Amino acid sequence: MIRTQGLVCTYAGAQPLRFPDVDLPQGDRLLVQGRSGSGKSTWLSLVAGLRTPTAGQACVAGQALDGLRGSALDAWRAQAIGFLPQRLHLSHALSVHDNLALAYFAAGLPRDDAAIAQALHPLGVGELGARYPAQLSGGQAQRVALARAVLLRPAVLLADEPTASLDDEAAAQARDLLQQCCRACGASLVVATHDRRVHQALPGAQVLDLNE
Ligand code: ADP
Ligand code: MG
Repeated sequence: MIRTQGLVCTYAGAQPLRFPDVDLPQGDRLLVQGRSGSGKSTWLSLVAGLRTPTAGQACVAGQALDGLRGSALDAWRAQAIGFLPQRLHLSHALSVHDNLALAYFAAGLPRDDAAIAQALHPLGVGELGARYPAQLSGGQAQRVALARAVLLRPAVLLADEPTASLDDEAAAQARDLLQQCCRACGASLVVATHDRRVHQALPGAQVLDLNE
């Protein structure tokens, strides 16, 4: 679940970004839409506890974020939030398998190599564990990043422009995979996008419109 109240983020020297309130039950889907620069990525970073709001509060996966700091916040995020950033942030120094193992390290959990293989397999990248990110196609890299995001069965999966650079067929696949992964672990899915194709493909999703 995600519940926000009066969230504001002010970057130095800029007008405050004021966000409408959200109340998203666990397992439901949310589309965050708005033109470029409207604050979609900023909203995701507030909900992930990556950025502290100037005002307002967020409760995510049962946790009031203003009650967490430092390493406690990092550990909470590593377990409760799956994040698929627009730039995938795979470590190029590590194999695919070890990129996923980092999720355990971040959460302070012992690494589970069997679970890593099981996360890669349904996304069609089960054979690629020994490769390095530079040896992957764009679509493969996105699937690896998605496997990493859902590895610890997060309560909330945040995806930032997951289809922006994809053709119609790949975009449809990416949307389906996001929804499958969320159903499999009961996660709420949040997709930030200006891509009309996603709007049409998430029927019944709540909408947070940042253009208003
Ligand atoms: P979107 O994801 O909808 O394109 P962003 O959340 O990235 O929007 O940005 C919202 C506004 O905040 C934009 O005007 C952007 O320039 C500004 N902004 C984003 N990140 C920063 C930052 N780290 N420092 C200063 N301004 C920022
Ligand atoms: Mg953005």
